[in-house]
Amino acid sequence: MTLLNKLLHNYDITLDKAGVSGTRLAQRLDSLSKIGPTPEGGSFRLGLSLEEKQAKELVKTWMKEAGLEVTEDGAGNVFGKLEGKNSSLPSIWTGSHVDSVPNGGHFDGPLGVLAALEVIEAWKETGFQPNRNVEVVIFTDEEGSRFYSGLMGSRAVTGEIEYNVQFERVDSEGTTFSQALEAYGSNKDQFKKAKRNMEEVELFVEVHIEQGKQLEKANMPVGIVTGIAGPYVMEVHFSGVAGHAGNTPMNDRTDALVTASEFICKVETLPAQISSTAVATVGKLFVKPNGVNVIPGQVELFVDIRDIDEENRDKLVDLVHQAAYEIATNRGVEAKIVEHLRIPPVPIRQELQEKLKSVLESYGIEPTYIPSGAGHDAMILGNKVPVAMIFARSKDGISHNPKEWTTLNDCVYSVHVLKDFIEEISD
Ligand SMILES: [Zn+2]
Repeated sequence: MTLLNKLLHNYDITLDKAGVSGTRLAQRLDSLSKIGPTPEGGSFRLGLSLEEKQAKELVKTWMKEAGLEVTEDGAGNVFGKLEGKNSSLPSIWTGSHVDSVPNGGHFDGPLGVLAALEVIEAWKETGFQPNRNVEVVIFTDEEGSRFYSGLMGSRAVTGEIEYNVQFERVDSEGTTFSQALEAYGSNKDQFKKAKRNMEEVELFVEVHIEQGKQLEKANMPVGIVTGIAGPYVMEVHFSGVAGHAGNTPMNDRTDALVTASEFICKVETLPAQISSTAVATVGKLFVKPNGVNVIPGQVELFVDIRDIDEENRDKLVDLVHQAAYEIATNRGVEAKIVEHLRIPPVPIRQELQEKLKSVLESYGIEPTYIPSGAGHDAMILGNKVPVAMIFARSKDGISHNPKEWTTLNDCVYSVHVLKDFIEEISD
């Protein structure tokens, strides 16, 4: 069954009201899912890739059809502006991203962009004009799968980015970030110009899939995000000595991979020492020379560390640092750590959560309050302007996987909630 048929199956057509069309939303989710398809039925649209660009081009067509004024900045961020009655007031931004992790799903990112666009479509149909300008935003490279540093587009917009570090980042093919920018049709100067005056923004609101199971447990379609955990990413290099697997006795080895293995097992035990919400993951590693009959001389790996509380998160970072150096020293291996990302967690204002609560209640939805363990563009914007987030229920809490699933009913609920919330804020 195609994604479209799967989405439309069991769709509650009574949710098509106030100009919102579930069918249109389903068709658009389906169209995006076909860009960068994987054999497992997922999507692969890396940041700054041709696939990400194609996805943006498609959304830009829809934006123009919906009457939005479309612009793209030097970081590849796309803005579709709807003029409000009083366009001198700071704007409301809403959107998400269309890039994905390798073999990702069809909702993480696209739902936030398409829900925002569906709000515009609904207003077009009912003739509603918001008081303020409303801009639908697609941020580039949220996932950061290519250059190991996510949230690139939103960081370019707020200017919270170390440009020279960013330009020199290298992907696994050896392409630098600045080369990738040029291949994308931009350059370093244009990239720097993506920085915006954030005083022009009243609020950013993002719809996103939950990527957890709390809404499923509460049996509710959408919920209210209370805060976003700040991610931290470090790269650890273990340098030992490569040697012949046959000729080097076991007691005369400095094996970087065995050291890395001990470290990875240790990392797994550390979050529990800090808090119940802290997590740490090693999800990517390179072994050199990576030969069947060669003792591994070098290992590079990445550790992702998160918590909602900044102090706890940073305590965990220190423990992981310590573990890397201790384990390496004990084995005569050299350890080197490079910090890639350290973003403070973002709390979401009580009054915005209250507004969302009353919108939810108007649909008979009992509010579920959820802290976000995953980082989002809203987290970056949240350092500069008020942000709000609406989560839509994820089946089995699965994400970053072709099996990622949110029913069309839940997607459409997220559109209604977003629409009513913006209408209220816009006044
Ligand atoms: Zn996402």
